[in-house]
Formats: sequence, C-alpha cells, structure tokens
Amino acid sequence: LYVDAELGAGQPVAVTKDQAHYLFGVMRLKTGAMVALFNGRDGEWQAEVIVANKRNAVLECRSQSKPLQMPPDLWLLFAPIKKARTDFIVEKAAEMGAARICPVVTDYTQSERMRQDRLQAHAVEAAEQCGGTYVPEVADLTRLDKMLENWPQDRHLLFCDETRVGEPATDLAALPRGPWAILIGPEGGFSPDEVDFLRGLDFAHSISLGPRILRADTAAVAALALWQRALGD
Ligand code: SAM
Repeated sequence: LYVDAELGAGQPVAVTKDQAHYLFGVMRLKTGAMVALFNGRDGEWQAEVIVANKRNAVLECRSQSKPLQMPPDLWLLFAPIKKARTDFIVEKAAEMGAARICPVVTDYTQSERMRQDRLQAHAVEAAEQCGGTYVPEVADLTRLDKMLENWPQDRHLLFCDETRVGEPATDLAALPRGPWAILIGPEGGFSPDEVDFLRGLDFAHSISLGPRILRADTAAVAALALWQRALGD
C-alpha cells in the first residue's frame, strides 16, 4: 500500500479514508494484522494495524521488508494521446520500471491537456500492483523542443522513428550503456522537420520497432521491452 508518510521503525502512519475502507471494509483486517507499506523513498515496511475502523485508521511500522529498489535510469518521453491510452502508457511505463515519465508536446500532438496529478496516481497504482518500492515521477507537460534544448549531454535518446517502418526491429545490444530516454511520437507521428532535427542530434539514436506502424501506446510498451532486454541491467 502506498502512503504519503515517512516510514521507519516505530513510525505511526495514518491512511486515507479510501485506504481504510479497502483495508478494513474490503479486506476485513483487524487490529494486529500486518500490512506492507511503501512511500517510494524508504523501501517496503511491515506495519501493524493499531486502530482499525473506517473513520480512524492508524498503523505502526515494525520492520523493513525490502530496501528501496531503484529502477534503471530510464525516462519515457511520449506525446499525450487520448485519455485512456495516455493512462495506459503511464501505467505500463511504471510497471516496466521507467524512472521518470515525461509527457511532451510535439508538432502533431493533438491532446495538449493532461492532469499531472491523475497520471501520477496511475503511476502509484501501477507500482503498488507490481510490488515495487519506487514510484516514477510524472513530469509536467513540456514542449519537446524546450526539453531538448536543456538536454543532459550524457543521456542517450532512443528515437522511435516510424519513418523506418518496414525495417526489422533494431537490435539495441550494440548501443552504449548509461542513462537513456525513450521518445515516442503522437498518433500522427513526428513532423518531417522533427524527424530531421532528431536524426541530427548526436545523443539520439533513430530506431525501428519492426515492420508495422504501431499505435503510440503499443510502441511505448514495445520500446520499453526492447530497451530492458538489451540495456536494462
Ligand atoms: N496512427 C497510429 C495511432 O493511432 O497511434 C500510429 C501512431 S505511431 C505514428 C506513434 C509513434 O509510435 C511514432 O511516432 C513512433 O514514435 C512510434 N512507432 C510506431 N511504430 C513504429 C515503428 N515501426 N518503428 C519505430 N517507431 C514506431
């Protein structure tokens, strides 16, 4: 269970009303039961239920059951698409172990509205369901060109380039190790100017995800899996 509180031996932790409903209404836990908690910073802690009712729920940390497990230093940059598909991308990126998720506005981005807090909540749920101890940060929406102007020079960019369609998926094993970011375009793909610009960046590597044009949400999962297989240890 994710909590927005410090975790440490003897630390009391209050849970939200919804969490109290889940723990004591749905799961029917009683005083003395143990619950695994994480906050994205202090690893996983086993906490004992001290007060268990739907209005007032308090747990107390007993011992750490997992240290904080940091994911590989991988960012996912993607252009927001329709709401449900954007949610899907955030959820899958968190499950696949992206460390940071950055929605970006590109030339053909159609959906420039997004609620960062809602997407962050999806990332928390995804981390919860896969037993992670880390929650990726969902950054605020930023223009891709602005982000690339201030790009950290040691971070490689995996440019998922749909103009390579027809080529087999690129073998990533020969690419350098180190910090990486994956870039996925919107439904309409990247504009010709963006493709030229991205191909000219010395930290960017243009790759194919295989012979067919994938939907942006599928492309994000495929790129995360290829990267993890080749470079993610
Ligand atoms: N119109 C579809 C949709 O509704 O989502 C296709 C979108 S595709 C153009 C979106 C992005 O996925 C591209 O900009 C690219 O980053 C990535 N992508 C999709 N297929 C790809 C492929 N075969 N190789 C490389 N990147 C690909």
